[in-house]
Amino acid sequence: MAATQQTGPGSIPEMIKKKRDGARLEEAEIRSFVQGLTEGTVQEAQIGAMLMAIRLQGMDLGETETLTRALAESGQHLQWPEAWGGLLVDKHSTGGVGDKVSLVLAPALAACGCKVPMISGRGLGHTGGTLDKLEAIPGFSVVQSPEQIQELLEHVGCCIVGQSQELVPADGILYAIRDVTATVDSLPLITASILSKKAVERLSTLVVDVKFGEAAIFPNQERARELAQALVGVGARLGIRVAAALTTMDSPLGHCVGHGLEVEEALQCLEGGGPTDLRDLITQLGGSLLWLNGQAATLTQGVAQLGAMLDNGSALGRFQAMLEAQGVASDLAQALCSGSPAQRQGLLPTAPFKEELRAASEGTVQMIQALPLAQVLHELGAGRNRAGEPLHHDVGLELLVSIGQRLSAGTPWIRVHHKGPSLSPRHHQKLQEALKLSDGAPFMPDPCLRELILPPSMKG
Ligand code: URA
Repeated sequence: MAATQQTGPGSIPEMIKKKRDGARLEEAEIRSFVQGLTEGTVQEAQIGAMLMAIRLQGMDLGETETLTRALAESGQHLQWPEAWGGLLVDKHSTGGVGDKVSLVLAPALAACGCKVPMISGRGLGHTGGTLDKLEAIPGFSVVQSPEQIQELLEHVGCCIVGQSQELVPADGILYAIRDVTATVDSLPLITASILSKKAVERLSTLVVDVKFGEAAIFPNQERARELAQALVGVGARLGIRVAAALTTMDSPLGHCVGHGLEVEEALQCLEGGGPTDLRDLITQLGGSLLWLNGQAATLTQGVAQLGAMLDNGSALGRFQAMLEAQGVASDLAQALCSGSPAQRQGLLPTAPFKEELRAASEGTVQMIQALPLAQVLHELGAGRNRAGEPLHHDVGLELLVSIGQRLSAGTPWIRVHHKGPSLSPRHHQKLQEALKLSDGAPFMPDPCLRELILPPSMKG
């Protein structure tokens, strides 16, 4: 069925009406809608209306599978040598604040012998995007042709690239419109968006980090579990072994938020250091992938294998190779990957102003609310208001304290990197309100991974 602008049966307005009124869309209708997206025959208003109809009425697993396949088929599928069968793995996140896991995990998995063709995203809403973070590194190019991706996997073992005209173009169109039409938090739309990119990668195993909490797409674990089940279920229909990790997203992951600062923190992790919550999540997600993909006998062994690649420099070596192969000058890639944090200063974008805020009273850090922090950074220029807008890679913040730590009044708890000359009183207040102190004793925070939902083939 060809996309058409007419009214009547089979037209886009009819399809929107059908979904709006709660009916199921046929395979031919979904395919016709996606074809119209790619060919540019569906108007933006119609795309927004269809997205809202899907957001409000949902889609069953069959409709979601069809949407996923149609998005994947809007561009090319990547092709791999037969010898790579069973080695192709990836991880994707539904989006968080301070989430730089992919920057570390892709090279660490490559160091374990996997092939990782990661098609990643840009910031969506208040959440940061992996591609935006990598672009803080001068020269890094997220645009790579299918042939270049194959070369990267051959020589480095991993790459991190964006969707493009050649790769899932229809998802690129929907992603940008969802961001400005309040239709991000839809189970079928998230499922199809993530899995279409993974279907194109022809993976054997995928782990999705489904975040829940104040700063995640879904506020509670029950809703995150529903999304996880849709991802696992549609993944199985597509022939991909998909597992989902449910992880908390109330406070930022790690200590740094903002593109350049997050690259620096990822480098610390690649050197075997970095904040405990970040390293734990990276080793758990990577360990799960190695175990599910048959490259580790148990989850515990997978976690240990992944951790060893961070500690022995192999993951860092792959990261350096990936930077060079994706456009970063060799001397810069080498300096970033061999110097100390102090030596790296000046190699990554650095904001002209830094301002520290102090705790207003004594207490134990119960929570540092990620959402208001991300909103302030967005207003300071770290995020976009329209697709394609440039953003400031040097804007960000460092948390100077940890969850569970006891503070005395006046302790500096956050350092904001900004364009200056000073933060507004409103930003000051919003940031200070994000620090939640209690009278309780100091404590060790729980790990952010709360539940691992396994693919049907691993159950029972
Ligand atoms: N990541 C994606 O690629 N798509 C979504 O919809 C959400 C997170």
